[in-house]
Amino acid sequence: MYDSIVIGAGIAGSVVARQLAEKGRRRVLVLEKREHIGGNCYDRRDEYGILVHEYGPHIFHTNMEEVFDWLSRFTQWTLYENGHQVVANINGRLMPVPFNLNTLHMAFEKEQADALEQKLVDAYGYGSRVPIMKLRENPDAQVQAIAQYVYENIFLKYTMKQWGQTPEEISPQVTGRVPVLISYDNRYFQDKYQGVPSDGFTGMFARMLDCEGITVEIGTDAKTRLEFGEEEIRFDGKRFDGSVVYTGALDELYGCKYGRLPYRSLRFAFEHFAKDDFQGHSVVNYTVSEEFTRITEFKHLTRQKDADGTTIIREYPFAYTGLEGEIPYYAIMNPQNQALYEKYKQLAQQHKNMYLLGRLAEYQYYNMDAMVKKALDLADVLLGC
Ligand code: FAD
Ligand code: UDP
Repeated sequence: MYDSIVIGAGIAGSVVARQLAEKGRRRVLVLEKREHIGGNCYDRRDEYGILVHEYGPHIFHTNMEEVFDWLSRFTQWTLYENGHQVVANINGRLMPVPFNLNTLHMAFEKEQADALEQKLVDAYGYGSRVPIMKLRENPDAQVQAIAQYVYENIFLKYTMKQWGQTPEEISPQVTGRVPVLISYDNRYFQDKYQGVPSDGFTGMFARMLDCEGITVEIGTDAKTRLEFGEEEIRFDGKRFDGSVVYTGALDELYGCKYGRLPYRSLRFAFEHFAKDDFQGHSVVNYTVSEEFTRITEFKHLTRQKDADGTTIIREYPFAYTGLEGEIPYYAIMNPQNQALYEKYKQLAQQHKNMYLLGRLAEYQYYNMDAMVKKALDLADVLLGC
């Protein structure tokens, strides 16, 4: 009955399903085990009418025109004129993150800050982006002093909370996502487009999946409908030769037979206040104190005006164990985990009609825009473009 089955209705699954249905596949089935579409980008109105991001704050940002244009078919945008801006609470002072020349001038006295600014500009050039682990390698004593300040006040405690490991122990790629900026740019991302869908992410996904040829079944774990045997994939007990796109965790598909792939998970604590403003910023990172990593205040993120009061979310990271109700959010990328992932990937490669896509299935750290691009590219492959 179906020519394609997509497992997971997150951004990866929804984009690939739409593209397949629109470009030639007639019958695409999307199976989603949660009770809603959108995966981790899902948002909803809380009991006070505030639009909240159920699985942590999501800001769409991209430099890829193709991706922005494609998504814009399904939504209008609330774009941020001055980009998404984040501050760190450092011993009670709110300072811009990523650490940049504005932060430098807040952290050091004027004369010293001027001299340090000159040092950084001479060493790296105005406008450059220097990962903290690279900055720490600079032998100059003054640059070392800045690097030490940034390391201790921005990265060490936050990274320990987020990953349960020091910045040295995790992949440099991860801390490299938030480099020191040798400029006065306070934006968290440097992308051209930054914002959120005007009526929320869920609406955008609903319109994407609302297409002739797409059937969505929520509340359905694919493992109850599909079997991944050695020889073939079976769907509802019969051999299935169409394309199967899997966007879930790969170890869980195979009963974790080689052991669990390690992930970090998060506990989200929502709180509502009967006042207009809680913290004056979308996101405040707690980089030297507290057990949570950050507080997001949704009204600042979404620019919502039609509800009273304000809702915030605190994020508490922990090690994913696979218990009922836990969600794997972040792959922990290191050579050992990659080797374990490769063993599962070999199992999946036995099936010529199975494709792995997404943060979980590929055991990678993707932003939304990269995910859209990969999903569009995979659809091209499946359609023989
Ligand atoms: P998911 O969203 O996880 O979707 C996978 C779906 O598959 C899920 O809905 C799951 O329930 C379903 N599934 C799994 N197994 C099965 C099964 N057996 N049967 C049926 N369904 C199944 N990116 C940005 O660009 N900007 C941000 O600001 C940003 N903030 C983030 C904040 C947090 C806290 C997190 C965790 C991520 C953030 N991201 C952000 C990344 C973004 O969430 C991912 O890029 C995106 O969600 C990846 O989409 P996906 O479809 O691969 O995965
Ligand atoms: N990070 C940090 N302090 C900060 C912001 C980020 O230590 O104030 C580190 C931390 O290790 C984090 C990584 O940089 O996991 C990447 O940050 P990003 O905001 O990109 O993480 P995301 O929330 O998108 O996963």
